[in-house]
Amino acid sequence: MEPANYPIYQTLNHPLLEETGVRLTVKRLDRMHPGLQGNKYYKLRYNIQEAIKQKANTVVTFGGAYSNHIHATAFACKQSGLRSIGVIRGETPLPLNPTLSDAVANGMQLHCLSRSEYREKQSPELLGALERRFGAFFLIPEGGTNALAIQGTREILTEADAAMNVIALPVGTGGTFAGIAATALPGQRVLGFSALKGDFIRKEVAQLMQAQGIRPHCDWEISTDFHFGGYARFNAELIDFLQDMRRQAQLPLDPVYTGKMMFGLWAMIREGCFPKGSRLLVLHTGGLQGVRGFNQRHGLQI
Ligand SMILES: *Cc1c(COP(=O)(O)O)cnc(C)c1O
Repeated sequence: MEPANYPIYQTLNHPLLEETGVRLTVKRLDRMHPGLQGNKYYKLRYNIQEAIKQKANTVVTFGGAYSNHIHATAFACKQSGLRSIGVIRGETPLPLNPTLSDAVANGMQLHCLSRSEYREKQSPELLGALERRFGAFFLIPEGGTNALAIQGTREILTEADAAMNVIALPVGTGGTFAGIAATALPGQRVLGFSALKGDFIRKEVAQLMQAQGIRPHCDWEISTDFHFGGYARFNAELIDFLQDMRRQAQLPLDPVYTGKMMFGLWAMIREGCFPKGSRLLVLHTGGLQGVRGFNQRHGLQI
């Protein structure tokens, strides 16, 4: 995989930040790579390297029809000369949505499963059936989180981020969060915002970190208050917020991950959760590819 461009820091200007004296910088991981937006670049990097090392010629992975992970995996495999198979949850939407049509344009072969079949994604029976059909493959799990992914997400924070007090990011499977928590410095506070409904995520992330031998030196917490009813759910208030962020602060966000994180962080800033002079670093983990399909599907313009 080609090396990425250097990430770009964007300092936000907004009346709320002036009022509260909070400094907010966005690390635009979404701009690192044209086809491999955001955290997926880091999560896939060592997986692709390992697939090549194992002399696999095919990568199989799993995801929904709007998945950033599916989109990025197709691109990464094409770039590395690997065949990619995307196992997609549910019926294929026809015509293909922008996520899947990009994936197909990048050579990904789609294999759609009903929701009940898809639930068996870790079963030896399903994996065996996939192997009989597609031959031997290198497997990357749904969402892309495994030890190699976390090895990659450990590289997101750099020395340039050492002076930040708070690091905020969205949480899906927690693979990115684990890498950030592993590398954040003592005294830094890592604040995750779950895109999924429910408190289970805290335990799951704690278990993930334990399994990976990660014992954070920073303070860490995961907010579960800003899921807006669940994964990919939304309301008018969220859409208004995303439109405002784009207009007032020149910051494009996606409605599934980065938008909900920013909404949550914004609420906390407004409530005075961060003392004057605090330096906040927001990780823009990408997801903008999904905005096209989201707009089409819901007749919105964010
Ligand atoms: C995949 C994704 C996440 C979630 O990352 P995890 O490592 O699964 O927690 C967050 N933001 C965006 C934009 C994503 O595409």
